[in-house]
Amino acid sequence: MIMKKQLLASALALIVSGACNTAGATTGKPVDWSYTAPIGAENWGGLSSEYEGCTSGQAQSPIDIRDAVETEIAPLAFTFQAGPAAILNNGHTIQVSSSAAGGITLPSGKYAFVQMHFHTPSEEKIMGRTYPLNAHLVYRNTAGELAVVALLFEEGTHNPTLEPILAAMPDNAGGMETLKTLNIANLLPSNRRYYSYAGSLTTPPCTEGVRWHVLSSVLQLSTTQLQAFKALYPMNARPVQPLNGRSIQVGG
Ligand SMILES: [Zn+2]
Repeated sequence: MIMKKQLLASALALIVSGACNTAGATTGKPVDWSYTAPIGAENWGGLSSEYEGCTSGQAQSPIDIRDAVETEIAPLAFTFQAGPAAILNNGHTIQVSSSAAGGITLPSGKYAFVQMHFHTPSEEKIMGRTYPLNAHLVYRNTAGELAVVALLFEEGTHNPTLEPILAAMPDNAGGMETLKTLNIANLLPSNRRYYSYAGSLTTPPCTEGVRWHVLSSVLQLSTTQLQAFKALYPMNARPVQPLNGRSIQVGG
């Protein structure tokens, strides 16, 4: 059991420290996947034995958020520090990583910020509605467990915090640029009410045990900014997955 837990922790560490496509690390060769046939989301579970959870898992992400239960859940306690950031095109999305960028304290303990990345359209739906973009802020605790904060975006006013990230996005998979300073705190809305549920990674190997927090306040970016991201990744969202009896809390 301890062995299994360690393996899980190291697999998760690999996924979040580098590109999403390091899942095949135990065999030395990552198994490729994408968002379109024949290696799109509907076939992920069959691409590799390590990806079986994408098909067999019963607590998968993303989900359509509905019937959330109003609950006295603790406010999300973020800490952020401005610092240098790496902007990586990992072949599946644009990923922003920054060491010592801060963390989040949840009832389950402290988690350090690892990376942030984007999906278009949004992976999360709220009451059946899809948004044009979402950001996932990925956090990890010392046991290797993950927590994600999801931010939804709609088209509207120019987003100044996203601008340096979008301006630095490398065109080619594997490309990386650096920003001298970035403060992700500037991205967050003042109202941090959120939906909470238990889910998984939304990319292979779709590992479960991820604590999800989806902010209900929707942020904005301009049409030009959205088009800049879509020029690189027109569609990089996994479809919503069955809830299978899981409960969704809302509060904070
Ligand atoms: Zn994501």
